[in-house]
Amino acid sequence: GLNTTVREGDEIMLYPALAGGAPPLDETEVHELAIEFEDKTAHDVLRWAIENLHPRLYIAWSGQVEDMVLLDMAWRINPAVRVFTVDTGRLHEETYRLMEEVYERYGVRIEVYFPEPSDVEKMVKEHGVNLFYRSVELRHLCCYVRKVKPLLRALSQVDGWVTGLRREQWASRHNIMKLEVDHDHGQIVKVNPLADWTEREVWQYIRENSVPYNQLYSRGYRSIGCEPCTRPVAPFEDPRAGRWWWEKDAPKECGMHCSIETGGFEKIADKLI
Ligand code: SF4
Repeated sequence: GLNTTVREGDEIMLYPALAGGAPPLDETEVHELAIEFEDKTAHDVLRWAIENLHPRLYIAWSGQVEDMVLLDMAWRINPAVRVFTVDTGRLHEETYRLMEEVYERYGVRIEVYFPEPSDVEKMVKEHGVNLFYRSVELRHLCCYVRKVKPLLRALSQVDGWVTGLRREQWASRHNIMKLEVDHDHGQIVKVNPLADWTEREVWQYIRENSVPYNQLYSRGYRSIGCEPCTRPVAPFEDPRAGRWWWEKDAPKECGMHCSIETGGFEKIADKLI
């Protein structure tokens, strides 16, 4: 069941759908809450999510500063908070090191989801290990096998997930709300507490709270993903310009947060593996 306990002195946010113990919330309820959350702080939004959805709530983690802000903030609200990541098998060594640091510092063991070995074997046998540089389709296939499928498996375990998405990151993110129904992942709730944060605010939080962060940032990275598909960017460049930099005019997305307009990954996967 859902935890709807409200402590004395709390600004009361009790929602009928949750009190009835029937998640996920419907579209209207989510929309109304999202409007209310517009002037709430990231901490308020996160606390609402934890109090109403934990333990059927996952914080998404991919080793970026935004994820570390959320992890730190969530851990202070409830140290038993659940964090998950997708290990594509192609991550930077620095990201693995940060995972260990998270355990040492917070005692949080990040739940790691891996791609299906048979999918990876089949794909690599047919297209080679570094297929992603050859075509956008093959890049999408790799993201589907290594990221999107394991993500689907992770999200089927919960009623909601928290992401570090920010509106200023990329055009496709300008309109995100702090609370959404995730139509790509079984209508669960998607919580974006940092939607209105700037990159500067993220770093301010990191510094003020001495939160550990990925050492790649010290080497000019401003967005972190898989090692072969991410590179540092120049200060004047868009932070996400370092993702799949060889693709021109393609969405800088992997399909975790939006389905890329190619007719769906399943179709591509059917065709290519
Ligand atoms: Fe594959 Fe690159 Fe996508 Fe990672 S980011 S899953 S290596 S294509």
